[in-house]
Amino acid sequence: MVLQKLTFLLILINSLLIAEDSLVFIIRVDDIQSRNTTTLPRSINDFQNAVEARGGKVTWAVIPHRLIETQNYNGILSGDLRRSVARGHEICMHGYNHICTRCGASGHEMFCSATNTHFTLAEQLAILDSGLKVLRDTLGVVPKSFVPPAHVADTTTWAALAARNFPWLSSTGVRKEFIYSGLYNLPPHNEYTWQMTQSVYTSKLNQALSDIKTNGLSDGYFCLLLHDPFMRAGYENGLVITWTAALMDSLNAYFGGRIKYMTLSEAGEYFRDGSATGVNETEEIANLPVLEQNYPNPFNSSTVIRYTVSGNRNSSALLRTSRKSETRITIKVYDLLGREVATLADEEKTAGNYQAEFSADRYDLSSGIYICRMQAGDFLTARKMLYIH
Ligand SMILES: [Zn+2]
Ligand SMILES: [Zn+2]
Repeated sequence: MVLQKLTFLLILINSLLIAEDSLVFIIRVDDIQSRNTTTLPRSINDFQNAVEARGGKVTWAVIPHRLIETQNYNGILSGDLRRSVARGHEICMHGYNHICTRCGASGHEMFCSATNTHFTLAEQLAILDSGLKVLRDTLGVVPKSFVPPAHVADTTTWAALAARNFPWLSSTGVRKEFIYSGLYNLPPHNEYTWQMTQSVYTSKLNQALSDIKTNGLSDGYFCLLLHDPFMRAGYENGLVITWTAALMDSLNAYFGGRIKYMTLSEAGEYFRDGSATGVNETEEIANLPVLEQNYPNPFNSSTVIRYTVSGNRNSSALLRTSRKSETRITIKVYDLLGREVATLADEEKTAGNYQAEFSADRYDLSSGIYICRMQAGDFLTARKMLYIH
């Protein structure tokens, strides 16, 4: 029993160390440029300089139509964006003009949230084509990544993006995975700096750091979301620029060389190709059991854990497995001291996708991190879950 516990603790420590091996960090700034002309200057440079000085890269989610509107006729913004691309930052397309042709409201345009109606594929393709033309004409850029207007993307949007050869989407409400043929999604995690004021500066900084160390590490990446015009030097004396710089200084001190700053497209390629090892492991990965991050996370009553069982395997014959055979699956939840809290699954399963629910309110648990551990044959993997009571 003691030996079992020791072995488990070693496995637990090992899995935490592996999870903490490295973190991909993406900085996505939406609504370049917003219609806000009171917060000046309308410039991306101060923010970009602060991020660059700390080794970071920015993914600018550009509203194409803004580049051809009066306030940007002088070409200053398009010049800045062209130079930004040359320095390794990325232009991501963010709709076309943020004006809905169904209801006339601004802020959404490919799915009408006022009438709750989808735009047709032809309509969405027309919006994409208008945006692509402006980006090509003003910046000489063909964007690879897309942020849906109002952050709402339906399956028709996915089909339209795939038809225009976009490989990367950054959409909330969908996981980090292929969501459509050829289209891979990397959702943003959180935004801390919307209309930020000095009074919440420190608390937001601490929240972001713990969020990144918990959810970022369990997801393998963290996508920090910001919005124009709050990242401009003219907003609250450059408060958001200072805040982002302080956050990156803390992250660099904590992770050292284990943090990898990437644009959305770079991160997409990194995860899609499994290029962490420089080897294409796609086939092997496809045959390994998968324990996904629980959703929601953090959670306060119950949470769902999805997992995939591959064919019965042993490490020497990974690819010669039969999909029909069964694998013994156990999924258990432990606290940080290695004490078993719940058994969510313990049975023979054939290859396929499954899900288990963890109802924390059935147990008398305190708030904190719990470990969900899956054993599938000789394969062992674990995820951290954050319970907030
Ligand atoms: Zn937007
Ligand atoms: Zn609308």
